[in-house]
Amino acid sequence: MKRLVLVGPGHAHLHVLEALARTPLPEVETVLVSLGPRQLYSGMLPGWIAGDYALEQLSFELARLARAAKARLEPSGAAALRADRRELQLGDGQVLGYDVASFDIGSLPAGPELPGVTEHARVLKPLDRALTVLPEATRQSGPLLVVGGGAAGVELALCLQARTGRPTVLIERGEEVPRGAPRSAQRLIRRLLARRGIKLRTKAALASLSAGSARLESGESLPFTTCVWATGARAPELFAKSGAAVDAQGYLAVEDTLRSPSHPELFATGDCAGFISGQRVPKAGVYAVRQGPVLSANLRAALTGGGSLRSYHAQSGFLSLMNAGDGTAVGAWKGLAFHGRAVWRLKDAIDRRFMARFQRLAG
Ligand SMILES: Cc1cc2nc3c(=O)[nH]c(=O)nc-3n(C[C@H](O)[C@H](O)[C@H](O)COP(=O)(O)OP(=O)(O)OC[C@H]3O[C@@H](n4cnc5c(N)ncnc54)[C@H](O)[C@@H]3O)c2cc1C
Repeated sequence: MKRLVLVGPGHAHLHVLEALARTPLPEVETVLVSLGPRQLYSGMLPGWIAGDYALEQLSFELARLARAAKARLEPSGAAALRADRRELQLGDGQVLGYDVASFDIGSLPAGPELPGVTEHARVLKPLDRALTVLPEATRQSGPLLVVGGGAAGVELALCLQARTGRPTVLIERGEEVPRGAPRSAQRLIRRLLARRGIKLRTKAALASLSAGSARLESGESLPFTTCVWATGARAPELFAKSGAAVDAQGYLAVEDTLRSPSHPELFATGDCAGFISGQRVPKAGVYAVRQGPVLSANLRAALTGGGSLRSYHAQSGFLSLMNAGDGTAVGAWKGLAFHGRAVWRLKDAIDRRFMARFQRLAG
């Protein structure tokens, strides 16, 4: 009997579990390692904040999903990887050996080492922590500060402001908001933020947080009563001391087959994978979703010794949809940007369809 360990219930691993439920792998024991008993879908989290969804609509029980795939769930998380010994240490102290292990554990928000961030900001990952943001934001009054002008930061600022009516400031260290979006989408978002009274501060790098006050590198202070931390991605800490090859940012290095160049029994996918071929793979859920079928086929090949591995090639762009929190959404596609109720309906339909797939599987 061989053992496959799937670490993290990220987007691509959901696909692997779905495939295992449909076509089980004989003589393979599958273990799913998660941080807790449920998975939240980040794409619908801003909608939950805006009041569009109940929590059950964006979450599912991992034990049920694992059962459908005839896998065992270990919900205490992975604490350490010893790649040379093919061992994974879990949060509850257990040590799991593996024949093949695959990582889909996402990324962490950048910048928590800045003074005061851990104490005074609501950091969004692991995503369960984001659930504390809404009760706090609705209970308190006064200025709401969102740090990070990527798509997630913009959506959260819009949805929190729509739900709470609080004065909201969005700060971004660069010039682009949303970071990396086409110019047309940036213009549209700027107009929308202004219309909604959300103050946007670009080229505003945060230096430190203290109770009720954010200090920028320029020396300026911004008052706040709730601070939400939605900065760009950094690598999970698990890989640094694992003995497996990592890329320059500390993500688990992979070839285009999603396999580690140093340890062929290791795979990584989604945000936590660092592609060494140089292909550009943004840290976004839509890329992790597309990696699912390739990963699934390659894990089967690695476990059965059958066939060559498939390569993953990232799509050149994707339809980005941001919830504006007021029954509208903003979309960006190949240099075009659009806003309105129909865009929200499209986003809602896509997200619901994605969730329904796995909620059905989880019974
Ligand atoms: C508010 C918000 C909204 C977003 N909206 C979108 C969107 O609309 N579209 C889009 O493409 N992207 C969106 N993103 C980005 C998106 O969430 C990530 O890029 C995406 O989730 C990455 O997918 P993944 O499969 O790599 O990992 P994830 O979906 O992050 O899943 C990783 C899982 O692994 C678990 N895990 C972490 N560490 C461990 C460990 N040590 N042991 C075991 N399990 C572990 C985590 O708890 C999590 O369940 C959004 C992000 C945020 C914060």
